[in-house]
Amino acid sequence: MILNRLRKILFEKDTLNAFMILMGGFIAGATIQFNWAKGCLLQMGIGPCFMGNKIRILTSALLCSLVFLLLHKIVILITKHFQLAEELNMVQRSRFFFASFSFLILYFFFEPNTIVLYALVLSVVLINIFRTYLAALFNVERQGDQYYKQIILLFLLILIPNLLIEISLLFSNSVLNYYTYTRLFPASLIYLVLPILLPRIIKPYSIFIFLLFFIASIPAISHILTYGSEMPSSSYYAIWETNSVEAVDYVKQNINIGILSVLLPLMLVMLFITIRILRFKHQKVKLLIRLLVGFCMCLIPLLAGLSQYNIPNKFATNYLKYKSEIQLFIGEIEKRSNQNLVEKITNFQPDSAITVVVVIGESASKYHQGLYGYTRETNPLLNEIRDELFVFQDVIAPHSHTNPVLSKVLTFANHENMDLMYSTPTIIEYMKSAGFKTFWLSNQEFSDRYTTISSAIALQSNKFYFTFDKENPSICFDGRLLKPFQVALNDNALKKFIIIHLMGSHSDKTIRYPKEFNHFKTDEGITSQPYHRPWPISVINAHDNSVLYNDWLLRTFIEGLRNEHPNALFLYFPDHGEELFEYRDFWGHAEANASIYMFDIPFLLWLSDKYKVENPELTTNLSTYLNRKYQTDDVIHSIIDLTKCTSPLFDPQRSIFNAAFKERKRIIKNQDYDAMIKTKKSVDDTP
Ligand SMILES: [Zn+2]
Repeated sequence: MILNRLRKILFEKDTLNAFMILMGGFIAGATIQFNWAKGCLLQMGIGPCFMGNKIRILTSALLCSLVFLLLHKIVILITKHFQLAEELNMVQRSRFFFASFSFLILYFFFEPNTIVLYALVLSVVLINIFRTYLAALFNVERQGDQYYKQIILLFLLILIPNLLIEISLLFSNSVLNYYTYTRLFPASLIYLVLPILLPRIIKPYSIFIFLLFFIASIPAISHILTYGSEMPSSSYYAIWETNSVEAVDYVKQNINIGILSVLLPLMLVMLFITIRILRFKHQKVKLLIRLLVGFCMCLIPLLAGLSQYNIPNKFATNYLKYKSEIQLFIGEIEKRSNQNLVEKITNFQPDSAITVVVVIGESASKYHQGLYGYTRETNPLLNEIRDELFVFQDVIAPHSHTNPVLSKVLTFANHENMDLMYSTPTIIEYMKSAGFKTFWLSNQEFSDRYTTISSAIALQSNKFYFTFDKENPSICFDGRLLKPFQVALNDNALKKFIIIHLMGSHSDKTIRYPKEFNHFKTDEGITSQPYHRPWPISVINAHDNSVLYNDWLLRTFIEGLRNEHPNALFLYFPDHGEELFEYRDFWGHAEANASIYMFDIPFLLWLSDKYKVENPELTTNLSTYLNRKYQTDDVIHSIIDLTKCTSPLFDPQRSIFNAAFKERKRIIKNQDYDAMIKTKKSVDDTP
């Protein structure tokens, strides 16, 4: 009875109109809440952001849709009450105004930002004010409506594979899609410019777009469904490099029923839209309008520098970039393989046994290490032996992404001179020339030597072990490296150089530690921030648990060395840091969004007693060097310094352990890191 009455009041005769107004309100209410949670939206994408805040978003959306409908009712009542002459017109205008808030859905096409939201709300109002004028200008009703429908369908044809990628990422719980979805939509606009300018080519062009986007989505989507993450640039490269036999193998291995059940409907939907476009009749549209619309379409993606984010463009640009870099690198390695690389190595201890262990961590925040004063004790086992450790306080990474960091850490290349990556030996080549047996123990994913520079270097080692199993990522803890580490320790070579590459705290931190290390579960010990909600706290807790596990692992490595190798040294640093909601609603490491938390890293050295006794010139003053400003693109010099195998390539001024060390400009994204922090305020200080 009441419901019936309510329905009558709300909907009157026209259900469709009421529905459109409700829709406008629903989208407006939801968009406002998504904007409030934009940090989460940026990091996780639409799906996880919705799931994390669903009650708030839905309540706001429902309330807003009811408010819109009520406001519309009030307009009708007022116009009826005063018997306004243009009553009908007012009702129509009001309906159009409230319904056009559906326009706010465009918010999701851009990087989440309050200014974008304001601009969109303003354009809703402006479009309504200039509605009559705009309708006359574009002559939408009479001329070209077929043309506009075709363009909209074409845009849909491009959006659908993009949306499917976002949805697949959502279901794979990937946290790697930081910016992708906000880039994909506006980036796709550029594909509309040509058909807008030349309406005659729309039909053949649609067929081309259908084929291009469908073929390009096949590997992108199957990668997400198989590995649960977006395809890295290096994989695009790998696809281009694959020959036909490998391609067939790839299809056999990777295309399964699950993937086909996604790809087949995608193909059918895209085919259906293409056929719809083909059915339209050609219509004439004013050149001025075409030029105007076409200009806007290419302006947005070009201004935002987004064109490279389209699926097809990703193939081309990533391929060209990787091909030139890695081919050159591998070419140089191969050229050098027959030469005696480092001719003038001076080894100060040619006959004594020594074991050098360099552990490269992953995404470890310096600010979440107990050793560095974190409020939570995340380094209990390392703190036990703190007086044996040299804890360096001011070391930063050269980048905030693994691959660019490693191409500098593992070679003589640095910010001043990248050419050294090609013209001088890698760390493995160098240590081999110095008479060391080299080991590479990695728990990071490995595909092949042509994928990354670090994997090309890894394969130069005398022995290499890769323990990460792509099929079962959630059980591949770094502890898997302990067995190969023991094998390396047991090897009877006199001089051993062991690089250990950890998975550390990479990406989804919850799968980086066994459940015995699930120690931090509440917000206890975390400095509270206004944007801390259950979700950020869970990310911080998972990170801290992975640091706790890392602490156990590093201590285990050290004890292994202490017990079996009297003359040994151990160096630990991660590739880069990680931001974890320290001063804004953000976590991760994106150089585009750089902060000191992504660059500041822990840097620890442990030396055996025998090493200290035998190398007093290196070790007596070490504890006075702990505050030196250092960047790890120079770390190869520090490692060489400790092994005492110097050559003309070695520069003591670039070794943090050397008396001759000289501080240099530390460069981050072409900016002076120390100046950035001091003068422009630290990113830390921005609100
Ligand atoms: Zn990394």
